[in-house]
Amino acid sequence: MRQTLEFLLHDWLGITSLLSRPRFADHSAETFASVLDTCERIARDKFAPFNRLADIQEPHFDGERVHLPEATHAALAAYVASGMLAAAQDYEVGGMQLPCVIEMAANAFFSRASVAMSGYAMLTSGNAGLLMAHGTPLQREVFAKNQFSGRWFGTMCLSEPQAGSSLSDVATRAVPDEAPGGAADGDVPWDADALGPRYRLRGNKMWISAGEHEITENIIHLVLAKIPGPDGKPVAGTRGISLFIVPKKLVDERGELTGERNDVALAGLNHKLGYRGTTNTLLNFGEGKYAVRGAAGAIGYRVGQPGEGLRCMFHMMNEARIGVGLGAVMLGFAGYEVSLDYAKQRSQGRPITDAGKDAARPPVPILQHADVRRMLLAQKSYVEGGLALELYCARLVDDLHTGEPQAAREAGLLLDVLTPIAKSWPSEWGLEANSLAIQVLGGYGYTRDFMVEQYWRDNRLNMIHEGTHGIQALDLLGRKVVMDGGAGLKLLAARIGETIQRAGQMEGLAVPANELAAALHKLGAATKAAWATGVPEEALANATPYLQAFGHVVLAWLWLDVALAVPRPGSAVGVFGQGKLAAMRYFYAYELPRIDAWLGVVSRREALVRELPDDAF
Ligand SMILES: Cc1cc2nc3c(=O)[nH]c(=O)nc-3n(C[C@H](O)[C@H](O)[C@H](O)COP(=O)(O)OP(=O)(O)OC[C@H]3O[C@@H](n4cnc5c(N)ncnc54)[C@H](O)[C@@H]3O)c2cc1C
Repeated sequence: MRQTLEFLLHDWLGITSLLSRPRFADHSAETFASVLDTCERIARDKFAPFNRLADIQEPHFDGERVHLPEATHAALAAYVASGMLAAAQDYEVGGMQLPCVIEMAANAFFSRASVAMSGYAMLTSGNAGLLMAHGTPLQREVFAKNQFSGRWFGTMCLSEPQAGSSLSDVATRAVPDEAPGGAADGDVPWDADALGPRYRLRGNKMWISAGEHEITENIIHLVLAKIPGPDGKPVAGTRGISLFIVPKKLVDERGELTGERNDVALAGLNHKLGYRGTTNTLLNFGEGKYAVRGAAGAIGYRVGQPGEGLRCMFHMMNEARIGVGLGAVMLGFAGYEVSLDYAKQRSQGRPITDAGKDAARPPVPILQHADVRRMLLAQKSYVEGGLALELYCARLVDDLHTGEPQAAREAGLLLDVLTPIAKSWPSEWGLEANSLAIQVLGGYGYTRDFMVEQYWRDNRLNMIHEGTHGIQALDLLGRKVVMDGGAGLKLLAARIGETIQRAGQMEGLAVPANELAAALHKLGAATKAAWATGVPEEALANATPYLQAFGHVVLAWLWLDVALAVPRPGSAVGVFGQGKLAAMRYFYAYELPRIDAWLGVVSRREALVRELPDDAF
């Protein structure tokens, strides 16, 4: 995987060109490599050996405390010591000013080694990064910096039992903390608290990852809640949602614990299919179990303006979704590596020869059977293609933040349409890769003696969280490809067109270039046909097949573009380059043709599922 990673970063994306940007001026190809080396080593030594343990010894709540294996504490201590929590942040806040693409590449090692153990760290940098963007200077100083240093970890509290995909139905309430004695040191009015406007929160948050643990001395929850309007009722819809910092233990403005426990109670742990090493919690805010400063209600400090909560929360959306996609890719990679290794070791069956099978001959490694090779090449095309997708998107994030104005504008447009793909495509096909890895191992793959079943279980989450598959599809077809007159889609088509142009002139790549041109045309026609009547219900009924086809076209494009970076035949392609070209060809031969079925139902606005009476199911 490291060799593929380096090839994609350097030979394909040319990341050293980032060094000319002032923000990255202190870096070099060597500093980038050394970050990757460090992370690869920590992931190999501190995370991978305990991935199974963290799964078997899943978090346990004894009614008072949550217990995790000691290895989880040790692994995260090593992660904190590496400085990776603040990798992309400014030097002034203890960061390394690394490009997003290097930060993501480095974190990929942890997802491969133990996606669940590394979950705590990913949530913490996301939480602190959001506070850097939207917090007050003191909120950044107290809450963000103490997370970047690893003193405290963080969470993201959006979901509620009755509000998952539909966050407009969030029922957690936040009212100004006007109670006498509401402040720690006297009667500081609610709107004059140095840590931010102070509220009392009441409500239940479901599915909160890393919501309880004792890895760090405090946990900083970022919570979405509604502030009642003048009529005492919450504002309907997402416009009514605000964002709050709710520490598990209260702190003062110097960042010291005040000794007060906030009114946040663990109602229980969720027992999951996979990702078991990350605690997953139902949290009760403000039920009075830990009444604080004489009253029930969890104390929270508002971040940003009232009603701006969802906008703040989604500020980091591109990075968060690329992170989820990359996690799905790396789980796929992990399974691919195990199954490839197994296929070389396991002997079974005889090759089919012209004379049929000769039982007198010794069995061969299963790697020699065409069907096993098909499953391995499928995995390779999914996971290496997925890695290219995530690195490409991370590179766009760098352009968005540090590129020239024109490049930044274009990166923003491309990310609009590519982010749903970056999140969803690897969630589906990385999972399929894991399923194929199990298949390569046969019965052994179905046991807990090999890691492939855990990778599959861990990966199954990714189509569900950070916006389900169905919600990503609605976002893509319902919003992203039509917004600004389809500007994002047009720009993407232009980029794909450039690759087609270059590949068309390259020996051996003209055929896939033509196939990609045809696929792009079909995608454009289907997009138009879906919206031909202008009736959203009709257009969006087949949004998920559209998402699948869109993703396959994007991956076919990226594979062709990657193929252009492989040294040409005659110039010692080598087995490494041969493998890349074969994975590209696999994608065109076995995968791209699938788009016809997906786009067929989109184009004719197939009404079957939409119109079937409920009782007919
Ligand atoms: C292990 C795990 C960790 C999580 N971590 C966190 C966390 O840290 N913080 C947090 O806030 N949340 C977290 N979540 C919650 C996660 O984001 C939600 O599960 C997700 O948003 C889906 O919500 P739901 O489970 O209520 O499903 P629902 O919204 O009820 O969806 C059920 C099904 O209906 C479909 N559906 C729903 N609405 C529509 C629609 N309008 N059109 C078409 N289809 C629709 C969905 O696509 C899905 O297939 C986590 C979840 C899990 C399982």
